[in-house]
Amino acid sequence: MTVTRTGGTTGATAPDARTASADEQVARLRATFRGGRTRDRRWRLDQLRGLERMLTESEDEFVAALAADLGRPRVDAWLADLAPTVAESRYARRHLRRWMRPHRVGLPLSVQPGSAHWVHEPLGVVLVVGPWNYPAHLTLAPLVAAFAAGNCAVVKPSEYAPATADVLVRLLPRYTDPDAVAVVTGGPGETGELLAQGLDHVFFTGSPEVGAKVMAAAAPHLTPVTLELGGKSPVIVAADADVEVAARRIAWTKLMNSGQTCVAPDYVLVDATVRDDLVARIVAETARMRGAADGEHGGTVRIVDSRQAARLAALLAEDHRGTVVAGGTVDVQARTGEPTVVVDPDPRSRLMTEEIFGPILPVLTVDGVDAAIAHVVAGPKPLAAYVFTGSSRTAERVTREVPAGATVVNHLMFHVLVPQLPFGGVGRSGSGAYHGRFGFETFSHRRAVLRKPARPDPGVVYPPYDGRTERLLRRIF
Ligand code: NAD
Repeated sequence: MTVTRTGGTTGATAPDARTASADEQVARLRATFRGGRTRDRRWRLDQLRGLERMLTESEDEFVAALAADLGRPRVDAWLADLAPTVAESRYARRHLRRWMRPHRVGLPLSVQPGSAHWVHEPLGVVLVVGPWNYPAHLTLAPLVAAFAAGNCAVVKPSEYAPATADVLVRLLPRYTDPDAVAVVTGGPGETGELLAQGLDHVFFTGSPEVGAKVMAAAAPHLTPVTLELGGKSPVIVAADADVEVAARRIAWTKLMNSGQTCVAPDYVLVDATVRDDLVARIVAETARMRGAADGEHGGTVRIVDSRQAARLAALLAEDHRGTVVAGGTVDVQARTGEPTVVVDPDPRSRLMTEEIFGPILPVLTVDGVDAAIAHVVAGPKPLAAYVFTGSSRTAERVTREVPAGATVVNHLMFHVLVPQLPFGGVGRSGSGAYHGRFGFETFSHRRAVLRKPARPDPGVVYPPYDGRTERLLRRIF
């Protein structure tokens, strides 16, 4: 793989691509950070405005790249990658002054007189490692947070979305401070080189397996890590759910990016009494929405590459013992797959134990909400848990009893669009969070500052202590 590393030279506004080692790139950004300009609120606002301008002025380039990488139609590219990134940046700009404000605190008697406050400080040079499925949004939204918090950043886009990576290589240093950002392309080797630099934070989005490797590579340097991972996000459909709406929303979100979404509905646990109705409606809604979407692949949807298509084909080829009621084929050569619904596969099959990350929806029949909750809590904590129910008690039970990065009632995935909510996993689905203020905090250090006057300087606090001073100290401390 060709490794392209770009970045500016001091004072440049549109640097040429150049080859530089990971340590040279990081040294350049460290020098910028030490220079102090990234701490300034106006600098941060300029970077955010630059990102927004890049995404709006160069929408066509991003759309073309996302079409090349993922076969994504224009409206999907705008809806899923570009618009939410611009929204995230605007939100950060609007709130930055408040987030950056120092927090004055009172002092306990033992520390008086004096004054104290704490303030968010930038960490330094951070690394953002992105996945291929939303290759613009999932590298740029963490960058919004990194810039808002006043950091320099190395961005490492996924090697499996090379067209988008190329656009980022060309455009990012043109629209943002070229001495504060570097785009490094490549795979595990290049990421390993960057991690070996002992950076100030690593923000990784990807699979739990690779997340563990990134965490291990960061550990010798004590580099803090945020892990945005994946897993099997369940959808519980209770007997009292609005089945028509549930089916429509499940079909829509599963189809989005061909199911290659970290918070996509991975599988459904449906009450036996509404199973047939739900399955029939999901199948019908999927067909209807595919008819309305681009007809490029006929009855199939695009899979990112043949590696992923082969993985999905293997999931279906396994003896999962379920009934395929829609779709069922994956064309590895063509990198396409039919939207597929499998009813009642074996709960121990790979379909029910591995993250699907594609257009295959297993639907498991359960005997009520208790059984659904028991199924989910027996596995790793998911990134999201969804429940469709007409009862607020059932919604509360699922929220309380199913640990997950997030819970959404009567819908799916929309929590990612709320910048006021933290976005992140728990346990195997990740650690740490971002979006809005939570991203700003992830990329900041909370610095405590205590100021004391030199005098008074009461001798009673200094040793040696006699019985009287000890009694006094016990009252004060
Ligand atoms: P991946 O883990 O294969 O790759 C992610 C990134 O890690 C890529 O940039 C890749 O180059 C890099 N990488 C790969 N091997 C590495 C290694 N050994 N050392 C260091 N870096 C390495 O993930 P993917 O296939 O791009 O994305 C799919 C996964 O990401 C799914 O599990 C999905 O659920 C998850 N995901 C999570 C979120 C989230 O926000 N939580 C969002 C999207 C995707």
